[in-house]
Amino acid sequence: MTTSTKTESVPLVELDDVSKYYGNIRALEGVSLEVRSGEITCVLGDNGAGKSTLIKIVAGLHRHDAGTFRIEGEEVTLANPRDALDRGIATVYQDLAVVPLMPVWRNFFLGSEPTKGSGPFKRLDVDLMRTTTREALLRMGIDLRDVDQPIGTLSGGERQCVAIARAVHFGAKVLVLDEPTAALGVKQSGVVLKYVAAARDEGLGVVLITHNPHHAYLVGDRFVLLKRGVMAGSHTKDSVTLDELTRQMAGGTELEDLRHELERPSAT
Ligand code: ATP
Repeated sequence: MTTSTKTESVPLVELDDVSKYYGNIRALEGVSLEVRSGEITCVLGDNGAGKSTLIKIVAGLHRHDAGTFRIEGEEVTLANPRDALDRGIATVYQDLAVVPLMPVWRNFFLGSEPTKGSGPFKRLDVDLMRTTTREALLRMGIDLRDVDQPIGTLSGGERQCVAIARAVHFGAKVLVLDEPTAALGVKQSGVVLKYVAAARDEGLGVVLITHNPHHAYLVGDRFVLLKRGVMAGSHTKDSVTLDELTRQMAGGTELEDLRHELERPSAT
């Protein structure tokens, strides 16, 4: 009893005072955040804020230079992306690595294809891949017309949804999403956010990277604001309003200065 309560209280991912430098360039300094099962942690920041660097650390592409990175309470320094994946951290990048001309089901299983038969008779289990893909998508509420269509014919939003369903199917505990709505219109963004919430409802901890406070506030439980590599704010949903989050993102005073600068001199 006590053990399960304790396990629940340990975040899936925790960054504590983490910094990363590229030579003299400070990409991240003193960043802390936590990601919990069944919650969405949003990382908000403008261009150059350090969002990609943060993803790269959590995804095992880069090592942090200072601070502590814990996965389920254990301090780690990830060796590579495979290491992150083995520990249950799946990252969905904006420019999804897909083979456009291959069917949806083939992309779904890319790199983990099931086979049947043995020896010289060993071959891909196409039927299994097809039905599993269809079922995994339906489980998330994604009703694709046809899993046989080339993935390149899906809309950007649909492709993001397939990638999210894929991470859930392959047992990810933490899902890192790199600006999943950045290139999408309003309607498609809504659909993607719905599946981000569905992944959360499956018990995953989600890291949602975005520069859109409206999207973040719709689904987020925690919000971390980055500005030029440092934390400009850290809030839980009940401690911040959308207006406040938007104002902080827009850089309240900076925007006011800009307004003054752009003001036309009044005609005399
Ligand atoms: P964007 O939204 O524009 O992609 P970002 O929030 O993802 O921005 P990062 O790409 O993490 O920001 O960059 C943070 C800072 O680190 C920037 O000043 C960037 O120029 C610098 N930086 C990132 N990668 C490298 C690198 N490999 N070498 C040197 N500097 C880098």
